[in-house]
Amino acid sequence: MKCYICAEQGKDTDAVAICIVCGMGVCMDHAIREEIEKWEGGYPFPAKKLKLSIPRILCPPCYNAMKS
Ligand SMILES: [Zn+2]
Ligand SMILES: [Zn+2]
Repeated sequence: MKCYICAEQGKDTDAVAICIVCGMGVCMDHAIREEIEKWEGGYPFPAKKLKLSIPRILCPPCYNAMKS
């Protein structure tokens, strides 16, 4: 899989991760990794309080959407 953001910019970069929200492939430069303490709302996975923080990978558009 190639990085979607890079592909839009005419570059051909292998994806290293996949956005958990939209499934977009992203390269190291475009993957946003964020630790969260618990899941809220149950999307995209079943809602469940977790004892440990788990990392999530987001693409820039989804990250911006989550933050706003
Ligand atoms: Zn990229
Ligand atoms: Zn995304």
